[in-house]
Parts: sequence; structure tokens; C-alpha cells
Amino acid sequence: MFRETLQSQQPVVFRTLTNAMKRGQLSHCYLFTGPKGSLQQETAILLAQSVICSEKKEEWACEQCIECMQVYNREYADLIFIDGSRETIKIEQINKLQQQFSQTALSKAGFKVFIINDCENMTGKASNSLLKFIEEPSSNTLGIFITSQVNRVLPTIVSRCQQISFRPLSAAAFHSEALEKGMDAIDAHLVSAMAHTSGEMEEIRNSDSYQAAVRYFIEFMNYYFDDFRTAMLYLQDNGFKVNARSKDNKKSREVCGYFLQTATIFVNDYHSHVRCDDQSWDSLLEKAENRKFDSRLFLEAVSQTRDALIRSANLALLTDQMLYKLSGGINDK
Ligand SMILES: [Zn+2]
Repeated sequence: MFRETLQSQQPVVFRTLTNAMKRGQLSHCYLFTGPKGSLQQETAILLAQSVICSEKKEEWACEQCIECMQVYNREYADLIFIDGSRETIKIEQINKLQQQFSQTALSKAGFKVFIINDCENMTGKASNSLLKFIEEPSSNTLGIFITSQVNRVLPTIVSRCQQISFRPLSAAAFHSEALEKGMDAIDAHLVSAMAHTSGEMEEIRNSDSYQAAVRYFIEFMNYYFDDFRTAMLYLQDNGFKVNARSKDNKKSREVCGYFLQTATIFVNDYHSHVRCDDQSWDSLLEKAENRKFDSRLFLEAVSQTRDALIRSANLALLTDQMLYKLSGGINDK
């Protein structure tokens, strides 16, 4: 069953979609992003099956009934699959899609689904026409866009879809492995995204620089959402030191590096509505959602600092520059 594969290979995606279905809060439009081969197409099919299947097991499709088989073989009457992987998607294809979606469903489930693979590969006309269409979602429809190059997808399409990011299978496998090794939810979540090899995960988790960085990040963000000045002073006072007595500049740069990586993961989680089952991390994400978090500005400041960290020797100055950029970051002040 693909469902089990998804659960073990992309546990975050699995959990996100399971929760949405459990609460009856499935979005009308999803954008699956991530490298090719990270199970997006298979997941799109399983999600389509799950809204159509009449013999569901809990939230997910049975993957065995006639409807499930028809969806799997792309022969189901109310499923449209458009593939941009071989040739550019043209407006005629989108028009046909719209026409079919404006009619009543052909099959008894009454649900219509479209899947657009490699959706970045679409003419401008086709994108715009599609945009109008997804702006007015009708009930009982589900659209799934798949891309490995999200920066080439029309921003207006991205903003209207709920984004689900698929990690490279290695990262997903790292994540399960980290949990099996008994790491805390937050460490497993962070180090599996940071590490390049399985062995590196434990190295990172056991380093005092990483531990300090995560502590700083969580403290800093709690201040950041409540009072930016306090957040600023907090980071300036601590100066990314491993501990209060440390004067080791190399270590401090390491802490800063982990801090910035953690910040990048945070923004990714925020965009993809991911939770990691750690109370302090998840409550920060909730704050971000409630406070109109300016993630674009935040990510810009973080990426610029990451680039500068490689070149710059003066960590205090770098911190000040980052804080200056971040100072415009909360909208409701
Ligand atoms: Zn079924």
C-alpha cells in the first residue's frame, strides 16, 4: 500500500494531510513542492483516491476498490491529469479542464479532481486562465499542482494554494532514523534537515554549538513576537556564545551558523504549515501565524546574513546588521 510508504518516507506530509482530512479541512488547492522523485505524484494520486474512495480506511483511500484502481490508472471520469513534464501546458488544455469542471460530476462520488504535474511548465496564457479558475473554487473539487521549481510558478498561483513541501527522500529517511535513535522531536526535525549524511545528524545534535543555537533561536523568537527591542538586546548581549564564559570566536560563528539554519527551517515550516510535535517550536509557529509574520523580510535578512557569515570576520557587526534588517519585521507594531 502506498499509504504506508508515504507514512514512512514523508512523515510530515502524511501527518499534515491526515490531520486536514480528519478535521474535514482539506484545501481546495494544493501545491506540492520538492525535488523530483520525492513521491509527489504518488501522493497526489493517493489524495485523489482518498476524496473519491467509498471504502476508506480511516482518513485514507483503501487503494483497492474499483474507484481507487480507476484513479490509479488515470481512467476515472472525474479526474483530469495534465502533465507538463514532456511538453508545455497550453491554454486549450486549461480551457478543457474548466469546461469539464463546470459540469456536474460524472461519477457517484460527486468529487472532481485535477492534477497538474510540472505545473511551472505552462504558458503565461494558460497560467492566467487557470488562476481565474482557482480563484473561485467550487465545493467538491480538489486541485493539486506539482512542481520541483517553485520559483518558476506564478506567485499568484503559489499564494492561492496550500503548499506542502516534500523533502528529498534522504532527509525524510534521516528524520525517521533520528526518531528511531531516540532524539527529541525538535532535534530530529532540525538535524535531519541540516545533515548531509546519517552520521552527521548525531554529530550536530551532540555539538554544544547546535544546542546553544536552538536555545537562542527559540528565546529570540519569543521576544521577537512580543517586543522587538528586547529580542534585539537579548541577541546582542549573548553574542552567540556557547555559554556565558566562552570567548571562543570560532565557536560563536558556529552557533550563529546553526542559528541561521534553524531560522531558515522555521520559515519553511511556516510556509508549509508544518508542525514538529515539539511544544516550544510549534507554539512559535502559531505565534507567527497569529502575528502576521513577515516571512519574506525575515528570510531575506537570514539569507543575507548566511552569505555574509562566510566572508565577514566581525560577528557583532553582522548581528547588528541582521537585527537592523529584521527590525521592520512585525506588521502589527
Ligand atoms: Zn478505495
